[in-house]
Amino acid sequence: CSSTSTLASLLPGSRRAVVIGAGPVGCLTALALAKRGWRVDLFEGRPDLRLPSSKASSQQRSINLAISHRGLAALEAIEPAAAERFLHAAIPMRGRMIHTQPGGLDSQLYDRDGQCIHSIDRALLNEGLLEEVTSSENVRTFFNHRVTSVDFEERILTVRDTIANQEVRRPFDFCVGADGSYSIVRRQMMRVLRMDYHQEYIGSEYVELKMPAGRDRDGNPAFLLDPNHLHIWPRHSFMLIALPNKDKTFTCTLFAPTAELDRLNTPDTVLTWFKFYFPDAVRAIGEEILIADFLKNPRSSLICTKAKPYHYLDRGVILGDAAHSMVPFYGQGLNCGLEDVRVLTTLMDQEGVIASVPESPDRKDDVDRSVARALERYTEGRHRDLVAISDLAMDNYLEMRHSVTTLTYIVKKVVDNI
Ligand code: FAD
Repeated sequence: CSSTSTLASLLPGSRRAVVIGAGPVGCLTALALAKRGWRVDLFEGRPDLRLPSSKASSQQRSINLAISHRGLAALEAIEPAAAERFLHAAIPMRGRMIHTQPGGLDSQLYDRDGQCIHSIDRALLNEGLLEEVTSSENVRTFFNHRVTSVDFEERILTVRDTIANQEVRRPFDFCVGADGSYSIVRRQMMRVLRMDYHQEYIGSEYVELKMPAGRDRDGNPAFLLDPNHLHIWPRHSFMLIALPNKDKTFTCTLFAPTAELDRLNTPDTVLTWFKFYFPDAVRAIGEEILIADFLKNPRSSLICTKAKPYHYLDRGVILGDAAHSMVPFYGQGLNCGLEDVRVLTTLMDQEGVIASVPESPDRKDDVDRSVARALERYTEGRHRDLVAISDLAMDNYLEMRHSVTTLTYIVKKVVDNI
């Protein structure tokens, strides 16, 4: 367990928020509430990802993601200095680069006025937000603390400290579930309200591969592909993509139907298949690295979840992937999660939510109307937008792996740009 401030330094008389999950959305939520004067306890089931032991175990994987204006605006609204630092650590991608099977390249800019998305190391983003969280006086962070149940009526959280191997119970006023796609907070909320919930696994899985840095004329590390593009190798029923990293490598992700991946189970089949469909990528990655990584790296599934409502009375809400996992083809999952925090805290401000304990003889049954109104408005206003973007993400899989190669698409692009 790592506690980042003492009880004595917390604001007296402030309400206690518990945030479950120290991923990017949980960290941003903790920061936003702390800035408004709440006492925040942040619980994370895993060890602190900034520890050398955590870094070592994730070193083989350099996972990055695309942050767009949506995510940046949320970071700026809550932690402006951090937003600027993240931009520094990111690489702008001004368009997508289509790699045809014979090896041709087609650059398709995202925006005529130069707007772009940004490739950023996922761990770096999370670590940066954790740094902000741990330097906030009002937040205590508990790693290796896995939440096992939430009693929304009594406002009690049960948490397993996995190092001490003991269970602790924590009272709360407000509980935020930012605990990802398989959220325990969402499941506990379903017990007390009539939540509509839908989940769907798509027929494709993904495998991550690393494209190493090359060398420039002076022997310094250099990108093997243009770093200011998101690279796509569309092959109709599957595709490979690559995003640049600051160390001049690219993280490549192959998305393909399960049956297609099942056939690739020996070094020979892997190499023959990749050489046929992605010859230029094989040259850049290197045959040995490709085979070793492909056969060693995990295959992961892709889930899409939708829920409504996102909240319960004045005492709980789910944000980020806990509320809406979406397939990654629109690059908006995390961007939307960060935006959730901005939208929610704006509504809390508009409804005049205060961090101090409301005067009430009976805390148990008391419903704080201002929080309840903010949460009600959050669910009502947010749901349609989140469903729309989740559906766009699903549609964009077809566009990225297939439509971008069709003549109709290319003609439309030309007409749009006239
Ligand atoms: P998570 O990052 O899942 O964090 C949840 C945290 O909660 C974890 O740290 C977990 O350990 C903790 N936790 C879980 N259960 C408990 C418990 N019971 N007790 C305590 N802690 C718990 N999004 C983009 O915006 N752009 C992209 O380019 C992009 N690319 C993607 C590519 C791929 C291949 C995938 C799969 C997703 C991509 N996404 C992208 C989506 C993005 O990764 C997610 O939307 C984002 O990570 C969600 O953040 P989160 O904080 O809500 O949840």
